[in-house]
Amino acid sequence: MTEKFIPLIDIRRHRESLTIPAQMKLPNGDLKDTLARPLHDLRISVTDRCNFRCVYCMPKEVFDKDYEYLPHSSLLSFEEITRIAKIFLSHGVKKIRLTGGEPLLRKNIEDLVAMLAELRTTDGTPPDLTLTTNGSLLKKKAQSLKQAGLNRVTVSLDSLDDAIFKRMNDVDFAVSDVLSGIDAAHQAGLGPIKINMVVKAGVNDNEIIYMARYFKNSPHILRFIEYMDVGASNHWQSSDVITSHQIIQRLNAAGMPLHSLAANYEGETAQRWKHNNGQGEIGFISSVSNAFCKNCSRARLSTEGKLYTCLFATEGHDLRALIRSKDNHSDLLVANVIASIWQSRTDRYSELRDLKESKSQPGEKKIEMSYIGG
Ligand code: SAM
Repeated sequence: MTEKFIPLIDIRRHRESLTIPAQMKLPNGDLKDTLARPLHDLRISVTDRCNFRCVYCMPKEVFDKDYEYLPHSSLLSFEEITRIAKIFLSHGVKKIRLTGGEPLLRKNIEDLVAMLAELRTTDGTPPDLTLTTNGSLLKKKAQSLKQAGLNRVTVSLDSLDDAIFKRMNDVDFAVSDVLSGIDAAHQAGLGPIKINMVVKAGVNDNEIIYMARYFKNSPHILRFIEYMDVGASNHWQSSDVITSHQIIQRLNAAGMPLHSLAANYEGETAQRWKHNNGQGEIGFISSVSNAFCKNCSRARLSTEGKLYTCLFATEGHDLRALIRSKDNHSDLLVANVIASIWQSRTDRYSELRDLKESKSQPGEKKIEMSYIGG
């Protein structure tokens, strides 16, 4: 296909440009990248701010009072986010996850949820609408989020021990407040609730057994996440990682044997397991020990409208420049730009890391988790 190349942004500040295909095609809901991976999930970061300073994500020494967060004018508005989400749905996206930073800090987030809930997938159904939160504002907001049309929440909780949890969130936030947020979400019908525990060796790995016991007979799904080498500010080292396999061994040794379950759908991030003698489900997100790039169907939209096709990317594609352009580009044109980005996608960072072929160049900075969301 002949393509014209239009630099849409100020190249003094950004290296990338967007390619606008010369011939426009209507989206058919079946986009594939260079490795035949479909586009099914869209993660939308609604803020780069967070009220926690988790030591492995937004360490205080980097995210201090002088840290420059995005100015309000550069954030996508709810209308802009909804417009972009609608275009993604026309390409086959079925699931939308709101994230951050802490997404519940974004003012009137319920309004955005309501706008997204009005959208339809190519099957004519509403998108599966979920949100990842640290739980701090969940007690207050669970009911209104449900009313606005949110289906489910994932809540991050790294320990049940107050001292460990406070050391990890680094803002003195208590476990009981997150647990009451989880209860409120359950009461509001935002389940099944997933509980994300990032396991860092020597920091909270002795909490694995307590967490598994606590949630064993609950309706919630506890998920152990391998600590990842995402971003550039957490000084990740491979010795900090406790692998899923090691966690399963520890649970076994503690009298909690598990058996594996089939995936709910292709491309699911967590491997699903269940207690042999308990009702609770357990998930393992093994992005370090067992990279799942080959099934990755996720696109990520940053707070200020950059599209990333990998959590470990260093550069995004500036969709905000496209939709704010004075040329008033049509949805069809934006859809074609997105199609062209996805169709040229080659990312498989975690697999290459395993093969020791990671292509990061010295000086290239991977995006932070707090910027793009989990
Ligand atoms: N503030 C929300 C929260 O706490 O869930 C959403 C954003 S947070 C960046 C999303 C998820 O990413 C959380 O579950 C967090 O624990 C996880 N996370 C952050 N840094 C990580 C890392 N280096 N490795 C694995 N998971 C990480």
